[in-house]
Amino acid sequence: MNSQYVVAKFGGTSVADFTAMHRCAQIINDDPSVRVVVVSASAGVTNHLVTLVQQKSNEAQRLELVESVMQIQGNILAHLTLDEDLQEGFNTTAEQFKQLAQLPALDQQQCDEILSFGERFSSYIFSQVLRDLGVSTQRFDVREVLKTDSNFSKATPDVAATEKAASDLLVPLLDDNVVVTQGFIGSDKYGQTTTLGRGGSDYSAALIAEAIGAKSVHIWTDVVGIFSTDPRLCNKAKPIPRLSFDEAAEMATFGAKVLHPATILPASRKGISVFVGSSKAPEQGGTWIEKETTSQSGIRAVTQRKNQILLTLKSPEMLLASGFLAKIFTILSNYNISVDLVTTSEISVALTLDNAPNATRPELDQACLDELGAFCHVTVENNLTLVAMIGSEIQLQGGEDCLVDVLSEFDIRLICHGASRHNLCFLVEQNKSDLVVQSIHQKLLEAA
Ligand code: ADP
Ligand code: ASP
Ligand code: MG
Repeated sequence: MNSQYVVAKFGGTSVADFTAMHRCAQIINDDPSVRVVVVSASAGVTNHLVTLVQQKSNEAQRLELVESVMQIQGNILAHLTLDEDLQEGFNTTAEQFKQLAQLPALDQQQCDEILSFGERFSSYIFSQVLRDLGVSTQRFDVREVLKTDSNFSKATPDVAATEKAASDLLVPLLDDNVVVTQGFIGSDKYGQTTTLGRGGSDYSAALIAEAIGAKSVHIWTDVVGIFSTDPRLCNKAKPIPRLSFDEAAEMATFGAKVLHPATILPASRKGISVFVGSSKAPEQGGTWIEKETTSQSGIRAVTQRKNQILLTLKSPEMLLASGFLAKIFTILSNYNISVDLVTTSEISVALTLDNAPNATRPELDQACLDELGAFCHVTVENNLTLVAMIGSEIQLQGGEDCLVDVLSEFDIRLICHGASRHNLCFLVEQNKSDLVVQSIHQKLLEAA
């Protein structure tokens, strides 16, 4: 049975500066069921850390990046006096960061260590902001409980080990304290720091909620819920009050940046409800994501994911042969590459992969292309966007709107529908995708 505890996660803009942190602390103070607080790095910090780990900077540039990170922390610290325990921890962490950041070459483990500092700094500072409001607060190193494999930069959590460690080390603290811990980071079985991929703090919050058997996870961000499309792109986008786990998972997977794609997995495994709201306007409510909703059929949202790679693999051997797809997917899996869309023809297969410029590690590397190239002809296309229509019981024809007519206006490079009735996805040229999303939103989601 789920406890009455709530896990609250605050993203980068919510902990960007002292005023923002103070607002978040008040949200926690107003809701005694919040027992675990998961914080992100302050806005901008992880981007600086990613630049550091890309290892293209000279010594002076590295110093400048370290300075920029410490400046963001310093601006918040100027409003506070850290208690001795927090000050000591913060100083040691800052020292480790400065030393590691000056190394001219880093291995993958050291890259993850560097990426972890933003969340670690935030957790010291935010703990003090909460204590100053009179909340009994303990800072906790999430690496003691969030156990993962050693796939640095995109680690996979070990759910059983995490649950065991959380019940031994975290749950006993919750009766008397609000525990402040870090999103995005974990540790492998050797105790080495790992990270879960960009935007991973949402996922951390859901994993911790699962591990302590919380009743819900509150994701506090800079928008008042999940919208029918990115509100930055369409000013007529509307918040969606309720979504099912399936719908929310599809939205997150196909580009609604407001949630890390894996966030819904732990929540749906344990039936933990997820709330998404704005830390700037908590009174405005937000989106509740739950197992069952009474949502009607049809399109409810449109999302986009830019920077897609389209990989086309062609081989006459595929004709009437078995094992070609298995061979391809084995290689991709060996390189830990996740594929989103797949279509096949008689002698070729086309698939899409992410190529986000701010990723902690590039998705596709030359060694993988060489291995594929050894048995088939490989074409790589860039500058594409994956657009997804999300809802339930989506039908190409016969629904309220004829999607075939809507889609016929666009120059579509590849289309996928059928594996799930919750989405219809297609690829378009990146420089046109904003217009495509706006047009679909206007035609299908803005009516009355
Ligand atoms: P945080 O730092 O709190 O994790 P993110 O920047 O990762 O916040 O996610 C919030 C952003 O997600 C919003 O500012 C918004 O522009 C973007 N976004 C994209 N699609 C959607 C959507 N469908 N609904 C709400 N926000 C969306
Ligand atoms: N700080 C990490 C990032 O910017 C994780 C997160 O904010 O969710 O990607
Ligand atoms: Mg985020």
